[in-house]
Amino acid sequence: MNYNILTIFPGLIDTFSKTGFIKKSLNKGIINLNLVNIRDYSDDIHHRVDDKVYGGGPGMILKYPPIEKAIRDIKDKGHILYLSPQGKILNQKKLQELSNYKDLTFICGRYEGVDQRVIDELVDEEISIGDYVVSGGEIPCMAVMEGITRLLPGAVDDFESVKQDSFQDGILDYPHYTRPEEANGHKIPDVLSSGNHENIDKWRKKQALGATWLKRRELLKNVKLSEEDDKLLKEYIAEYKKHGY
Ligand code: SAM
Repeated sequence: MNYNILTIFPGLIDTFSKTGFIKKSLNKGIINLNLVNIRDYSDDIHHRVDDKVYGGGPGMILKYPPIEKAIRDIKDKGHILYLSPQGKILNQKKLQELSNYKDLTFICGRYEGVDQRVIDELVDEEISIGDYVVSGGEIPCMAVMEGITRLLPGAVDDFESVKQDSFQDGILDYPHYTRPEEANGHKIPDVLSSGNHENIDKWRKKQALGATWLKRRELLKNVKLSEEDDKLLKEYIAEYKKHGY
């Protein structure tokens, strides 16, 4: 996967790329990062890339020409995304879809955003990380990039763990425990140290379904439960109503 990232703060993303599994994925050649400083495409002697808004009002806007020139200069642009609070809200399905591209280009906005002609003329899709506003597109871009990269074969050491993550099959993940077996008087569930893998799998499925019912009930409307899953969920709900958890 080749990521082209247009930003006025390449240092933010450069630091991110030197950490953890993103760094490893770069070293292994699973991803490539082409960081483009929009300021390098400014005609202004001071490399300014923002200006006041037409019609008056507060704030500055990233100008069209430097972004257009920067995009034109990229050889393998692929799908062009603008990170924006007005975009489609990111979810796991969208990450899966984006992970199928060979090249992706991200435009990170700043200030009040970008000149509308950038969105109308250059962008294929606007993506939001949620219904709130942060100060720039860099953090949203890193979230999208990290989410996509972990879906690429070889990026995460144990791909099974990715397959079991929340949302991969429409429900949330089950609870995880590690040593010590007892912490502050709280023991791990007995089944996990029983060595009986059939029971462990069943317990995990039940907890995953239960967690989804408890925390994100609306997700269950979009998953088709098998007879066995339905039974496990009913058991979970009955136990929850009886004892709470
Ligand atoms: N005036 C814009 C609006 O209300 O739609 C918000 C501009 S915001 C302060 C500056 C930049 O941060 C945006 O251009 C965008 O690139 C990025 N940004 C802010 N919130 C975002 C979100 N929820 N998702 C994706 N990008 C976001």
